[in-house]
Amino acid sequence: MEKHFDIIIIGAGPAGLIAAARASQLGNRILVLEKMAQAARKLRITGKGRCNITNTAPLSEFVKCIHPEGKKLRPAFSRFFSKNLIDFFAEINIPTKEERGSRIFPLSDDANVVADALISYCKTQKVEFLLNAEVQDISISDEPAKNLRITINNPKQQFSAHSIIIATGGLSYPATGCTGDGYKFAKQTNHLIIPTRPALVPLRVNHPKVSELMGLSLKNVTASLWVEGKKMQSEFGEMLFTHFGLSGPIILTLSRLAVDSLNEKKKVQIQIDLKPALDDQKLDQRLLREIDEHGKMKISSYLKLLLPGLLAPFCAQELGFDSEKQANTISALERKKLRVWLKNLVFNVVGHTGFKEAIITAGGVSISDINLETFESKKVENVYFAGEVLDFDADTGGYNLQIAFTTGWLAGEAAAKQVSGSR
Ligand SMILES: Cc1cc2nc3c(=O)[nH]c(=O)nc-3n(C[C@H](O)[C@H](O)[C@H](O)COP(=O)(O)OP(=O)(O)OC[C@H]3O[C@@H](n4cnc5c(N)ncnc54)[C@H](O)[C@@H]3O)c2cc1C
Repeated sequence: MEKHFDIIIIGAGPAGLIAAARASQLGNRILVLEKMAQAARKLRITGKGRCNITNTAPLSEFVKCIHPEGKKLRPAFSRFFSKNLIDFFAEINIPTKEERGSRIFPLSDDANVVADALISYCKTQKVEFLLNAEVQDISISDEPAKNLRITINNPKQQFSAHSIIIATGGLSYPATGCTGDGYKFAKQTNHLIIPTRPALVPLRVNHPKVSELMGLSLKNVTASLWVEGKKMQSEFGEMLFTHFGLSGPIILTLSRLAVDSLNEKKKVQIQIDLKPALDDQKLDQRLLREIDEHGKMKISSYLKLLLPGLLAPFCAQELGFDSEKQANTISALERKKLRVWLKNLVFNVVGHTGFKEAIITAGGVSISDINLETFESKKVENVYFAGEVLDFDADTGGYNLQIAFTTGWLAGEAAAKQVSGSR
């Protein structure tokens, strides 16, 4: 039996849910099809389970954090931006708070609360949900009232709709249900797909001892990305060592260009400046003063004063220091080596952890095929795209969810108005 809806939304992630919420406010019969047994699986793990909903950076700064062409989202953001999103969440009883870096989180610090509130709101608006419903095919029929036919994994259920919104996400964290199905639907309907790559992804390095630093988190350091011997990008903040390499906010931000450069078979290095506040001269003065003060200490103990936890023995090993000797035996040459090391800890990047651990997908449905005010396809009438499936990806800080919420909101609004106009 075939059931007809005004709007069918494929994917119950943030983009799909807010599209349903907005379209339902304008009065439509809406169905959300979600392939997983639970809606919004990815949203529930965002922000380490706390959900960094958005960022209150001004628009001019905000769009700089979006790739490849954030400024193209200006018209969309001028209609639904961080303030509108925060107000919407307040209306559905999700008060928010602002943290360092203008990042907005729910007061509850709980991403599940955000996901559940969105779903509950949709349900009170009479949006219907079908879970475990994997859309397998979309076909365009000549019959105007049943323009779009949707086939799911259950052959007994067929759907048609006036409009559909494809909000199937990208390829990152496939365990949450995102396996690139939207790209398949887009390709079938002649949309251009910009090649997909993992972004905001941990990097693998080829240092034999990096696993000894596993779990070490560094704050207030600068990491720079070097490609073919040229410094390309620098980020200041926090990073983390893993058993295979480097992760944490500033490394994730550098990873986009690192992945693209690796794909082009270029030499990629990360240089870490452990003492970015000190230039070479000031650093030397500090070392001299401290070595004088703590001269009787073993080198191993002195390095623990200078460096966080696991880095002290790593440093001694790297520089070939005899840790048992006293700090005041460090020669001028050794002090120079130490200075260079502190400001130039270099790792050769040999890979990344792939989509399995990428926060976001770079590439996707080309924005040249999309009306960026309504998010309707320019190729197929009544078909909309929203969220990560589009060729937008952003830095960490709440920008990616705002993209999903803005594009979803506007797609839901435009689809609903189109349906009303056709009556
Ligand atoms: C670990 C992690 C942490 C993150 N933290 C943050 C953060 O704090 N702040 C931030 O801004 N961004 C964060 N992100 C990014 C953010 O989660 C994404 O930008 C956002 O989820 C994209 O929303 P979406 O609705 O487009 O897609 P998704 O959230 O991926 O939702 C797509 C939905 O479509 C469903 N689906 C797919 N194919 C089909 C099909 N064929 N039929 C039916 N349903 C289908 C999927 O099951 C899924 O539920 C994080 C990402 C990860 C992986």
